[in-house]
Amino acid sequence: MEWKKEDCRKTAEELIDFLEKSPTCFHAVENMAEMLKAEGFKELKEEESWELKERGRYYVTRNASSLIAFQIPGKDFSGFHIMASHSDSPTFKIKENPEMHAGQYVKLNVEKYGGMLCAPWFDRPLSVAGRLVVEEKGRLVTKLVKVDRDLVLIPNLAIHMNREVNDGYKYNAQVDMLPLYGGADAEGTFMKTVAESAGVCEKAILGHDLFLYNRVKGSIWGASGEFVSCGRLDDLQCAFSSLKGFLKGECGDSVPVHAVFDNEEVGSSTKQGADSTFLEDVLRRINRGAGRTEEDYYRALASSFMISGDNAHAVHPNRADMADPVNRPYINKGIVIKYHGGQKYTTDAVSAAVFKSFCRRAGAPWQIYTNRSDIAGGSTLGNLSSRHVAVNAVDIGLPQLAMHSPYETAGIYDTCYLIAVAKEFFSSAVKAVGGGSYEIGGRG
Ligand code: ZN
Repeated sequence: MEWKKEDCRKTAEELIDFLEKSPTCFHAVENMAEMLKAEGFKELKEEESWELKERGRYYVTRNASSLIAFQIPGKDFSGFHIMASHSDSPTFKIKENPEMHAGQYVKLNVEKYGGMLCAPWFDRPLSVAGRLVVEEKGRLVTKLVKVDRDLVLIPNLAIHMNREVNDGYKYNAQVDMLPLYGGADAEGTFMKTVAESAGVCEKAILGHDLFLYNRVKGSIWGASGEFVSCGRLDDLQCAFSSLKGFLKGECGDSVPVHAVFDNEEVGSSTKQGADSTFLEDVLRRINRGAGRTEEDYYRALASSFMISGDNAHAVHPNRADMADPVNRPYINKGIVIKYHGGQKYTTDAVSAAVFKSFCRRAGAPWQIYTNRSDIAGGSTLGNLSSRHVAVNAVDIGLPQLAMHSPYETAGIYDTCYLIAVAKEFFSSAVKAVGGGSYEIGGRG
């Protein structure tokens, strides 16, 4: 397989477009739903009864912030081929009654959502996006909102007033991180601005989940345009690659399942998170909808496989010492398979072998990540999801720098590698054949 630079650059441009249209998890899910609808996928609602047809293509959302899409190959499918990623990213959530007065300024009261790098949030144009719940003719209706202009900014304190800042500074979220919104005359206008952007009346708003987002445009850069930088690469780069591969795949013997969960950055334990029943509920409904028994469901799980896709740390050019001495992933050198002895990552010998065989089929390179043995590292989706749907799973991601900055950096080739592997994966079927052996086949 040849990886043409022009093709990878085009894919990176598409990725940036998707990221810029997706300032929050709600927008990411809406954009994925649009892409699915354009390919003939039908929306299912959790509150309605599902009539699934052979060769049918469907998607369902929960809380408008998590999404699962799947195709039904026929009644006799062997198992589920699931690729999971997450829709949320670390940011600042706008609190209730957000306006705060500070002398001749109006600023916004915000709190942290997830564990972000604080410093890069300063001194750059930011704005506000999320969802509103409004009362309309006796109904409570959800509206997405994105204020599409430079609206707020968190100014740094001058070096003259904080001489020690470059020696390490502990940012206090209630003191240092509140964004400036306007002069004194801006009083009482913030929710009005948000309401106008959403095309609703301010008084009709009964609830809001609003977040800050970075307004800096995505960029493809470097000596030969090999890098891509933008907000929310973790983890929309994986979500985008999963969806692209899913749409290109040919449904074979297994049920391809593209799953994107909210709230990974805050522990996944919400009703729509990876540690909820969402995936299990959908898989059981697929099983029943295809006219199969509970026994068939358990047999299907034994021949199922999950790729938990969440971005990985590339070796840092200035701090290479922070990486494991041997397993050192670099940007554009392939999909990263993550290992953790304590099983924060689900990868084991079986799942690594299965995943590598998909990489081989796709002609895509892979590389290995482990934490330094003296660094704790982060957690991800795979092991939480396993509590509800226990299947063979591998934890992987695309190599990136500056994870949890509002402007992260990754590689243009790696997205294409993951799309190709996802396509192979969604088109195949991993079948357990006893004694710890697996057969990979069933391509449609
Ligand atoms: Zn992530």
